Amino acid sequence: MNCDDIRRQLNAHLDEELDVMHDAEIIAHLDACPACADAALAHAARRGLTREKLQRFTAPPNLEAQIRDSLPSPKEKLSSPVNRPILRRLLPLAACMAIAGLGGYQAGVFQTRTRDSVDELTSSHVRSMMTGHSVDVASTSRHTVKPWFAGKIDFTPPVPDLAADGFPLIGGRLDQVKGTTAAVLVYQCRKHVIDLYVSPSAAKAPSGETSHRGFNIVAWTEGENHYAAVSDLALVELREFGRLWREQAHL
Ligand SMILES: [Zn+2]
Repeated sequence: MNCDDIRRQLNAHLDEELDVMHDAEIIAHLDACPACADAALAHAARRGLTREKLQRFTAPPNLEAQIRDSLPSPKEKLSSPVNRPILRRLLPLAACMAIAGLGGYQAGVFQTRTRDSVDELTSSHVRSMMTGHSVDVASTSRHTVKPWFAGKIDFTPPVPDLAADGFPLIGGRLDQVKGTTAAVLVYQCRKHVIDLYVSPSAAKAPSGETSHRGFNIVAWTEGENHYAAVSDLALVELREFGRLWREQAHL
């Protein structure tokens, strides 16, 4: 594939609609071609911005029943595959609308002096996504992920299980952020990856929430550690992730 082919398929790549071989080809190209990598970043940023600026509405309580009523019976569905994509599109939308109604903790804003921390976090997140290296230990079990960090870093992050809340754990990795080794807990929400960076807290570590290059960041300090969740997930959902994570970490 040449650069034009790659750019035509960026949308499908970011939506994870391509098959594995195809996706690998695009990732390899983005790795080797700075111009296309820049185009991919700009593309991801525009998508994040659009998502952020979209007006959100609360779903009326009878929406789910209406969608179900309008769908064919299971027997009809087999003969009319055209309905399946519609359902696939509607259900996440309904989930987003439902979660948009949930409140969260009131967060502060990032200070300008912490802008470079934000940039480092975002770059690290993007790098891991583009190289396809998002986990060193791939597991949905916290009993595998938590002990994996032991002996590699001198602190042990809590690893709560949020699968029941729609944020399954997919693994963990170590990453360098601002010259410090961070434990990264990797969760997922639908097709979106959430990197939660855990590092010993530093005086200038940012707290609050912000958007940068199309990604959202929700950060807080607790006890000895600083936490920063980075994702292209909508801010309202990432905030909810942070709230649930803090709640479950103490159980
Ligand atoms: Zn290229």
